[in-house]
Parts: sequence; C-alpha cells; structure tokens
Amino acid sequence: PPPPLPLARGRRRRGRAGRRGISGGTGGGGVDPAAVPGHSGRGTRTGDAMGQTVLLTGGAGYIGSHTFVALRAAGHDAVILDNFSNARGDVPDRLEVITGAPVRVYRGDVRDAALLARIFAENAIGAAIHFAALKAAGESVEKPLDYIDVNLGGLTALLKAMREAGCFRLVFSSSATVYGTPEVLPVPETAPRGYANPYGFTKLACEQILEQVGASDPRWAIATLRYFNPVGAHASALIGEDPQDFPNNLVPFVAEVALGKRAALNVFGDDWPTRDGTGVRDYIHVEDLARGHVMSLGHLIATGQSHTVNLGTGRGYSVLEMLAAYSRAVGRELPHVVAPRRAGDVAEVVADPSKAAALLGFRAEKGVDEMCASSWAFVSRRRNG
Ligand code: NAD
Ligand code: UDP
Repeated sequence: PPPPLPLARGRRRRGRAGRRGISGGTGGGGVDPAAVPGHSGRGTRTGDAMGQTVLLTGGAGYIGSHTFVALRAAGHDAVILDNFSNARGDVPDRLEVITGAPVRVYRGDVRDAALLARIFAENAIGAAIHFAALKAAGESVEKPLDYIDVNLGGLTALLKAMREAGCFRLVFSSSATVYGTPEVLPVPETAPRGYANPYGFTKLACEQILEQVGASDPRWAIATLRYFNPVGAHASALIGEDPQDFPNNLVPFVAEVALGKRAALNVFGDDWPTRDGTGVRDYIHVEDLARGHVMSLGHLIATGQSHTVNLGTGRGYSVLEMLAAYSRAVGRELPHVVAPRRAGDVAEVVADPSKAAALLGFRAEKGVDEMCASSWAFVSRRRNG
C-alpha cells in the first residue's frame, strides 16, 4: 500500500487562502533564483538581476502540474494561475510535497486582465506556458461559445498582459487535433490543418492567432506544442489525470473500469482500417510530455526562435492494446464491449516525432506499460483519498 500523503505541515488548508486570490508562499523557496534563466534573449528586462519565474496558466491541471514538477527539477521556478474548474484544490499541496518547496498559486480566471496584470507586477515572469483551456471535444459541440470564450479569450488576455509586462516568451498547449483526419502517417508538423469540432477549431484558431501576433513583433518567441495522447501519472502517484466529471478519454475511462466504477470499456468501433480494427493513437507519458515543455522553453530562451513541434512517441497503440496494457498493470483482464464508432473519430493518429528530436533533442522515453502502471498507481491511491 502507498505511504500516507505527508501533508501535515500546517499547509493543508492552503486552498482557503484562495479567497484572497492567492495561496502559497513567496515562491521560489528552495530554488536558487540565479539558476533560473532570465530575459537575456530578445525580450525586454535584459539584465534583470532577480530570478525569473514561469507563469503556468492551468498549472494545477493534469499536464500543467507535471510540467510544474519538471520545471522545478530543471532549476526553474513557476507560479500557477488556475480557476480550479478542472483541478482538485489539493494539487498545490501535493506539488509542495513532491518538490519540497512552497508553491505560489493565484486562483482566478485567465481572462481576468486585472489579475494577470497583478501577477506580472508581483513576479518577475520570464515566460508563460498557457495550459488553461476547456478540452472536452464532445462537450464543445454542445457549448461552442464557452470554448471560444475560454480558449480564445484566455489566450488573447494572456498575450495582452504579456505584452504590457514586456514578457515575450510563450509556450502554448496545442494538440494533434489540429491535424483533423491526417492523410500522412506518421503525421509531420507540415501536414494540413483542420478541425472536426469547436474544441479543435479553438486550438487551430489559437495557433493562427499566435502566428499573427508572432509575426507582428520580433520580440515574441512562441512555442506551439502539439500534444498527442498524454497518459500516466507522476512516479510519486500524488498527481495524475483526475477528471472532475465524465471520463471522455480512453485511459481515464479504463481506469474507472479497473476501479469498478464502470462495468466495461466501450470500444468505439472494431471495424476501423487498423491492425485489430480499433482506433490507434500515439500515447505519450505525461512526464515525458512535461520534459518536452522544459526543453521547448530552453530552446526559446537560448535562441529566441519560435517553433512548432509534435510531442509524441512515433508509435501507435490500438484501443485493445491499451486495454491489455492497463490489464497488465492492474493484474487482471478488464472487460470491454464493442460499441458504435464515436462521432468525429478517426482511425489512426501517430506523430512524426523527428522535428522535436532534431530541434529540441526531445525523445519520449517511457512506454505504455509505464504509462498504465503509473496511472493505476495514481487512481488506486486517489480512491483511498
Ligand atoms: P486540465 O483540464 O487538466 O488542465 C487545464 C487547467 O486549466 C485546469 O486545472 C483548469 O482548472 C484550468 N482552467 C480551465 N479554464 C480556466 C480559466 N478560464 N482560467 C483559469 N484556469 C482555467 O487539462 P490538461 O489535460 O492538463 O490540458 C492542458 C492543455 O493541454 C489544454 O490547453 C488542453 O487543451 C491541451 N491538450 C490536452 C490534451 C490531453 O489529452 N490532455 C491533448 C492535447 C492538448
Ligand atoms: N475510445 C474508446 N472508448 C472510450 C474512449 C476512447 O474506444 O471510452 C477510443 C477512441 O475511439 C480512440 C481512442 O480510444 O480510438 C483514443 O480516444 P481518446 O478520446 O482518448 O483520444 P483522441 O480520440 O482524442 O485521440
């Protein structure tokens, strides 16, 4: 059984401070500010003697929280802005346990211009990573305006605040969804873009906004990272994917089958033109993905050059292969039933990861067994509180 969560440091109620709009300490505790790369590139504030910090919008979420850990491990510090609409309130406490240093969290909406201005005024932000977004493709069909508002409004509010503050380094969470139904596999970054639902539309529109803004002012250095399918959890099993409502994605659903919350996985079609008839995707361990952000940020800092890269493994796994991998992690066969195809689904999406390797030196290292084992360690621990 996992050891108890060591939160008894008087910080358990940290989240309450969120009523004041901020929780956490002064930031940077235990982290040498001198080790944090600063604004020595094409941005402003060149020569700022103070340590620099990375703003993580949506930093309490699944990918953001793992990136927080990876940034600290690489000698950066980070502050989080999150409205906790899709994150548990105890994530900052857990990040403190993992990293052993205070976590500075602003509770609020990324569209709140006054809050953004305050964050930039109170912290020497050297770069931002913009995770905050709504991300459920199915829901986006029902609520396109919400998706447009949060995903496009959030990005433009952040860009304006960054420009005001003289901070011009941005890493953006894009998605393989911008490839629509890829014609060439594995899919290179040069593939044509499209969208199949309002969520995909917002990701494509954000990429296009960034292209326009980046072209307008040479100080911008923007990384567009197209994630494939993030899976798994931090090795501590303290943070992981924790859907606040219905699990739309494959692995969170399988996890609920393993937990006994759902009877069986619905396999959305077994008549796709793939090796076993089920959909094939490129699953990437979230810790690898988090490391990709650090490498991308390093490249922005070192070169000042914008870049767009796929973050995937280059290997595809079918739904049945992933179910088998998760079954191995759990130690028993997990049941499935074949269901109709899901609207808007595609047969196969696998990354060409060669540009990330050549440009950033990034290669995913962890395989599907590690992804499923770490996911299971997290969700089974979470079940026990
Ligand atoms: P997540 O929902 O776990 O994280 C997003 C975080 O943003 C959450 O903590 C949420 O509370 C916060 N948030 C949402 N709206 C906000 C707002 N208006 N103001 C402030 N905070 C807000 O999702 P994730 O899986 O970590 O995804 C992060 C980013 O990566 C998103 O932009 C998503 O579209 C993108 N992405 C995710 C996947 C995936 O499969 N998980 C794949 C490709 C791209
Ligand atoms: N899938 C499935 N049952 C589920 C959820 C997903 O069979 O409950 C399949 C889906 O059809 C696709 C793969 O699993 O082939 C990955 O789906 P997910 O939604 O996780 O990722 P995306 O389709 O967005 O790449």
